[in-house]
Amino acid sequence: MSKPVLEIQTLSFSYKPDKLCLDNVNIKIEEGEKVSILGPSGCGKSTLLRLIAGFEKPQKGIIKLDDQEVFAENKFLPPHKRNVGLVVQEKALFPHLSIAENIGFGVRKSPHKKVIVNELLELFRIEDLKSKYPHEISGGEQQRVAFARSMAPSPKFLMLDEPFSALDEKLKETLYNDLLEIFLKKNFSVLLVTHDENEAKIMTDKQIKILDGRLS
Ligand code: ADP
Ligand code: MG
Repeated sequence: MSKPVLEIQTLSFSYKPDKLCLDNVNIKIEEGEKVSILGPSGCGKSTLLRLIAGFEKPQKGIIKLDDQEVFAENKFLPPHKRNVGLVVQEKALFPHLSIAENIGFGVRKSPHKKVIVNELLELFRIEDLKSKYPHEISGGEQQRVAFARSMAPSPKFLMLDEPFSALDEKLKETLYNDLLEIFLKKNFSVLLVTHDENEAKIMTDKQIKILDGRLS
């Protein structure tokens, strides 16, 4: 039987005391499963991913990654101890590092860094960009680099926060196809948040709707 890579129980969070941002959220993602959370702007999607990554602390609930509690009553694991990858809309590459160095940043101390980086350059079909710098490549290429960078430390679980929304339709389509192949090959579990229903259906097996901080 497969075990969940993510399990969230009765999670609630608010930025201000008088207004709940996320209200009693429950989610379970099994190994290899691809799930999207679909909802309009401002309904709490990015906040949910930030809570899972450990950048914010919930007021209530339990978050488990790979069967280990990373948040519970009296328990909080900092972001660097949670083995999750996060890709956001703003690519946020390091401007002073080459593309190869950007991709290898999370594994810079590993003896396998070169092998890992070369494999990702090939998977994302960006080998010829490896010595360039972020300002020398296009927005679509930068987003490929951001995806490759998030995968370098081999997280079991990837979180994607509207990573396609700044790309035009044609670039999106090729990136969707390449990513679906890579997810399958690497057996990644994925949580995508988006406002785009079509994208959610292409990229994930299961879509969950969110409205005003509540899942349905
Ligand atoms: P989404 O990603 O779905 O667009 P967010 O999670 O970014 O939504 O935001 C959910 C709600 O929380 C919004 O009402 C937003 O204004 C509010 N919010 C987001 N970040 C902060 C913050 N740092 N401080 C206070 N309120 C915030
Ligand atoms: Mg958002």
